Amino acid sequence: MSDYAELSASKSERAFASHASFALPHVKQKPGYPAQRGTFGHGMMEVGLRFSPEAANEYLESKRGRVPDWWIRDMEKISIEKVETQLYSLNHETPETSRLYLEAAFSLNGDTVEYLGQNIGRNYPKGSNRFNGSVDVLIEGEFVNTVVDFKFGSNQVDPDCKQLRFLGVLACEYTGKQEAVLAIAQFDKAAGMTLPDELPSVRLGARDLELAKKELSDTLVGIREARRLVLLGETPKVNPGEWCKWCETKGSCPEFKSDGSLCGKHFLYRGSYHVGIYGY
Ligand code: SF4
Repeated sequence: MSDYAELSASKSERAFASHASFALPHVKQKPGYPAQRGTFGHGMMEVGLRFSPEAANEYLESKRGRVPDWWIRDMEKISIEKVETQLYSLNHETPETSRLYLEAAFSLNGDTVEYLGQNIGRNYPKGSNRFNGSVDVLIEGEFVNTVVDFKFGSNQVDPDCKQLRFLGVLACEYTGKQEAVLAIAQFDKAAGMTLPDELPSVRLGARDLELAKKELSDTLVGIREARRLVLLGETPKVNPGEWCKWCETKGSCPEFKSDGSLCGKHFLYRGSYHVGIYGY
């Protein structure tokens, strides 16, 4: 059992930026409202893509009265058929030329990538050296993997983000592919829950994947070093930024007061912590 904050792909940006976040004493957080809505949205997409649009509708009906009505109304606007076409077109694949994985869970344990199966929820193996993550949609083509992340919110996400890069590495290590297309499918209420005609995407070749693998490996080495310092009673270097917003170690971070409020070096802007006054 790990005593550290769980290291997962969704926390990649923070893990990369501030290793101390996975070394200092932490307080486990319950999923907030946006995360719950995201889980609901992911659930519908998975059912719709795995079975049929009708099954997605049944999923929504089964949730009626258990989630806010507007969540259901929003999700009803999504065309599963259209999304499916867009996902396959990212690398000109078809169901016949590729293998589809939905909610495909991977775990990096030391140097070994383990495939844990599809749709395992949050039941990842525990262990302080593990890096776990799930790919919302993985389309394994003959030579290229298409890795897609669903987002249900208005914050624009770059497909070349650490979360997708690291998931791309795990998927390619497992499948033996040397190229990946990373894409974001963002369902934004303000855009009527429709996707843009062309999904934001980036293509990583073998050298890019090597670089991403090194970023992941350096991140894990940095976290191990931060943990070593904490065990010695020292304070590891921290690196505040907007990733602090969801950090579980805020209560023990030297940049924050014990009640989780800022020490005065930062300013709050639109709900995110931005840093700049002292030139970090
Ligand atoms: S609160 Fe921010 S600076 Fe402190 S450990 Fe967490 S991510 Fe790093």
